[in-house]
Amino acid sequence: MNEQQASSANDVVKTRVVKIGDVPFGGEKLQVIAGPCSIESESQFRKSIEGCRSSGATVLRGGIFKMRSDPKSFQGLGIQDARFARDLCREFKMPLLSEVTDPRQIESLGDMVDAFQVGTRNMFNYSLLQELGRQKKPVLLKRGFSALLDELLMASEYIVREGNENVLLCERGIRTFERATRNTLDLSAIPYLKERSHFPVIVDPSHGVGISRFVSPMALAAVAAGADGLLIEVHPSPKDALSDGAQALDFGTFSKLMKDAAKLSACMGRPAAWT
Ligand code: PEP
Ligand code: MN
Repeated sequence: MNEQQASSANDVVKTRVVKIGDVPFGGEKLQVIAGPCSIESESQFRKSIEGCRSSGATVLRGGIFKMRSDPKSFQGLGIQDARFARDLCREFKMPLLSEVTDPRQIESLGDMVDAFQVGTRNMFNYSLLQELGRQKKPVLLKRGFSALLDELLMASEYIVREGNENVLLCERGIRTFERATRNTLDLSAIPYLKERSHFPVIVDPSHGVGISRFVSPMALAAVAAGADGLLIEVHPSPKDALSDGAQALDFGTFSKLMKDAAKLSACMGRPAAWT
């Protein structure tokens, strides 16, 4: 570390509050975004909302377009077949975050969601980032699975330079030599990003570890390390999920995590939004 880095290490960058719907991230309270990996059907999404909301989640997640490694696997319902999602979110008065995989989806997806997610495979898709920079809705930018933290920060600049300053940075695990977990969740990303950027930092332990029983301990570790929010995959019946079932929490496990996260966050001087 050179002298400049050492002195800047002591400077606290004030986090900008970014709202998804009317839910503030990076402010006084810890927030949790939860929901299934994919929106699969009206009844699956309704049950997911009920289960996540009753435990305190403040924003919903749910993929409508899925970027799967295997082209034969479920690719998401697409806009036409997922229209019910917007009505359900309105009924329950909860904002929705969903992934955009192609600039051509922005207009139609923008009518359905309150925030756009950029997935790990698209962090380097600069034309997508620039187009999202011309929108008003917030963008949750996931770290590429092989991206340096500085590359994540530079990717966020592609959005900001076009005029959209509503960015949330998301650590979701990187690919390392370790095979025991799906990815390696890099918790050091939290203090580093908080020192270098004024955007809220969200941690996604679900993709970070890929194994449901390891999600809660890593979520709590992220809270302890200062994350502004968590992104958690929850499914009414994980064994039946069309994507990422192995890492999805059932409602009971999610409820316990939310209680533990609230206690831990309170100890650290930051109340949870759901308490
Ligand atoms: C997701 O959130 O379901 C997802 C596909 O995430 P990632 O891009 O981090 O793999
Ligand atoms: Mn997923």
